[in-house]
Amino acid sequence: MTKVFLKKKVSRRVENGHPWVFGNEVGKVEGPLDGGDIVELLTHDGRFIGRGYANPKSQIIVRLLTRNKNEQIDENFFLERIRSAWNYRQQIGYIENCRLIFGEADFLPALIIDKFNDYFVLQTLALGMDIWKPAIVKALNTIFSPKGIYERNDVPVRELEGLPQLKGFLSEPFDTTIIINENGLQFRVDIENGQKTGYFLDQQDNRRAIRHIVKDADVLGAFTYTGTFEIHAAHYGAKSVVGLDISPSAVEQANANASLNGYSDRCSFQAVNAFDVLKQWSKDGRQYDVVMLDPPAFTKSRENIQKAITGYKEINLRGMKLVKPGGFLVTTSCTNLIQPEMFLEIIQMAANDAKRTLRQVVYQTQASDHPIVWGLENTHYLKFLIVQVL
Ligand code: SAH
Repeated sequence: MTKVFLKKKVSRRVENGHPWVFGNEVGKVEGPLDGGDIVELLTHDGRFIGRGYANPKSQIIVRLLTRNKNEQIDENFFLERIRSAWNYRQQIGYIENCRLIFGEADFLPALIIDKFNDYFVLQTLALGMDIWKPAIVKALNTIFSPKGIYERNDVPVRELEGLPQLKGFLSEPFDTTIIINENGLQFRVDIENGQKTGYFLDQQDNRRAIRHIVKDADVLGAFTYTGTFEIHAAHYGAKSVVGLDISPSAVEQANANASLNGYSDRCSFQAVNAFDVLKQWSKDGRQYDVVMLDPPAFTKSRENIQKAITGYKEINLRGMKLVKPGGFLVTTSCTNLIQPEMFLEIIQMAANDAKRTLRQVVYQTQASDHPIVWGLENTHYLKFLIVQVL
């Protein structure tokens, strides 16, 4: 097996548990180094650190899979890793739907698997993981006997790894519009054409957090996608709910989800640009008891971070202006490029501009089936805040 030695003077990040080795941290390589190969990683003086997969074309030249010298990377390795991730999800209370594998947080870098009851959607985002797709599918079949497995590898980041974008069945074909249960409600999930893996499981616990504040409320939701937060609001007793999303197909699904749950009388969705509409409604003097915002990341790169800051600030300012005195703002950010402290600062800046005082009700992160591993900053990405707007 090819041996990769770290430089003498590199930070102890990798030795302390981080699974990524950058190209400029490598001192020497003994043996051939081809994309996808399993290699051994050692300190500069030859101490074993772990085994992982390599890709000399990527900035991250090695991603570690194990630190156990006795553990071989083979089919059985993937079976055991996936089994152990599933045991962990069950232990913390997720049974029907969950993110089964959250990449690095489950010690399977660049692998995402979402479980929607009997259906599984996977993404292999690096070459060294993509190669093991047959072993991963075999493991899912062994553990779950699923009704269907689908790959949503139509993700641009794969191109950085020299991989094509693609999507399709990894099992016998099945009807890719499925219905899942969440918090006593039902939602249609379009596995084939929906955003990301089809559904945002990371907010599943946060959707319950709005329960008390929406009772008898007039609610405005923006960036609704398939209407999950808004239909929860109707379910928890909101008087009226209007939801906005720029995507006509998301709005169509959201309206379908509202009628699926029997809430189309109180809950409706419109395909519009939330930035424009919130501004206009504010000018028109509209006011809501609760405003909910779940915007997209606004940027994918650190260079463009200012764009994201401006986007979050602007939309939260517009949202806050629409909240009646004493009403509530529910607001989130789903990108790890905006750190938690920075997110709270942005909300504070918006409050200053709106001349409103905020009283914190709930501040939390993604659902715990997307585990945060301490020391792996990227695993802590979602911020979810409810404030009373005075
Ligand atoms: N709240 C959703 C997830 C929202 S994802 C859930 O829990 O499932 C972000 C959404 O913002 C996407 O559906 C996208 O279509 C929408 N979006 C992006 N830009 C927008 C804009 N300017 N106005 C309205 N919606 C927008």
